[in-house]
Amino acid sequence: MIEDLDRSYGVAEEALKAIRGLRLAATPRNIELLMAHLYQNHPTLSEDFEKSVRPDGSMGQPQADRLYDAHILRTDLAAEIAVMLQRFEAEVAKMSGAVAQSGAESRGHSEELSTLSVALSDIVDEDAGGGGNPDIMRLVQGVIKVARAAQETNEQLEQQLNESSDEISFLRENIASIQQEAMTDPLTGVKNRKTFDVAIEKTIDRAREEETPMSLVLADVDHFKRFNDKWGHQTGDQVLRLVADMMKQNVKGQDVLARYGGEEFAIILPATSRDNGVKLADRIREAVGARALKKRRSNESMGNVTLSMGVAELRSGDTVEAIIERADKCLYQAKAAGRNQVVSDADLTTDSEGAAA
Ligand code: GH3
Ligand code: MG
Ligand code: MG
Repeated sequence: MIEDLDRSYGVAEEALKAIRGLRLAATPRNIELLMAHLYQNHPTLSEDFEKSVRPDGSMGQPQADRLYDAHILRTDLAAEIAVMLQRFEAEVAKMSGAVAQSGAESRGHSEELSTLSVALSDIVDEDAGGGGNPDIMRLVQGVIKVARAAQETNEQLEQQLNESSDEISFLRENIASIQQEAMTDPLTGVKNRKTFDVAIEKTIDRAREEETPMSLVLADVDHFKRFNDKWGHQTGDQVLRLVADMMKQNVKGQDVLARYGGEEFAIILPATSRDNGVKLADRIREAVGARALKKRRSNESMGNVTLSMGVAELRSGDTVEAIIERADKCLYQAKAAGRNQVVSDADLTTDSEGAAA
């Protein structure tokens, strides 16, 4: 969290120390990997990470690269999408090739047909009522043959088009579900940090364009380390899922609910004033705090968890970083004031720019 500079330096130092211990080079990628592992409580990365450390405590650069690609870049996912798109393109090309070919064939058929019909009418003119004329019969058969060929071509084309469009819709669904997965936090099912980063920028741009307000809510589970220590990390994970679900129930429409970090969530609220943002945050805070938690198997009571929340409304000169930082300051102030509460940027006591919007 930005709120605690000292802590962020501490984590960076810890990451560097760990890099040295793993005997890896202090490259930006390795630092990012270690920060994610140590700082962001990324369970799948951490599990994979532990498995990739050699018995002597070191890690090879290829292993570090693999971890970075799989968990931070998700190049595997990008590659999957690329393969899907390639298949999609090949299908489309096949389809347009088939259409072009059929067009050319149809043209050929119709030219033949018109030649035959001209010849036919000539013969009929010369020999009115000549039903038994073998020339006429031959020509008529020729016309029928051409018409059949045209029909077959059309049927083939239709079948091919049907197959192609089935394949395309299958691919589309696949791509959509891969993209959905790439945008979603696997633990809680809400949007992930990457999606948040893109969404907040877009929301701010739109708010400026449409001259509407927008608000940002940041929420952090109180004393969650203590909860984990007492009930175990897995139970902690279940609680995070529950908190996410309760937040989901309170957001709607264009609101973007995302997991901002380990036990931190963010809600982007387009077209929403600070006051309405505070109301929503307070509703969530009350709902979460009122929920009596029970251990799944034993039904043992675990008490409850509470949320501290910060709400900031967009100001005219705000950058993305500025509004996040202000919401973060509010959150920090809510923690300092005793937790389980919502503080907005109208109540900030340490706001150097003043509280005026
Ligand atoms: P505070 O009230 O000041 O926020 O206290 P805290 O203990 O919640 O704060 P701190 O940031 O020191 O610790 C966050 C803890 O959240 C660390 C870790 O135990 C827990 N945590 C973070 N991400 C996850 C996660 O994905 N799963 C679980 N189970 N715990 C997590
Ligand atoms: Mg935290
Ligand atoms: Mg916390």
